[in-house]
Amino acid sequence: MAHVVAQPCCDCTYTECVVVCPAGCFHDGGRMLYIHPDDCIDCEACVPACPANAIYHEDKLPAEWSPFRDLNATMARQCATITSRRAAATN
Ligand code: SF4
Ligand code: SF4
Repeated sequence: MAHVVAQPCCDCTYTECVVVCPAGCFHDGGRMLYIHPDDCIDCEACVPACPANAIYHEDKLPAEWSPFRDLNATMARQCATITSRRAAATN
């Protein structure tokens, strides 16, 4: 089980989520972040930290965003870890 980052994360410039994660789960995909499902311990710390409500437990992921479950697993393995906030907005 793991948490999943969904569509509302797209183009977020806050990245508040990464600093509260105790397991270093977040990976930077450029336009959005992804959670590595093997690392997530389901602590839920990132859920209230996200101002876009983009993070869901995989069992509660809205159906419209169900592809994001596999997308997180695939992309997290390809993208670098991010553990600190982005310094500034990029757009
Ligand atoms: S705070 Fe939410 S919207 Fe922003 S990068 Fe993190 S998961 Fe994405
Ligand atoms: S639920 Fe906890 S361990 Fe999983 S990504 Fe969020 S903060 Fe990290």
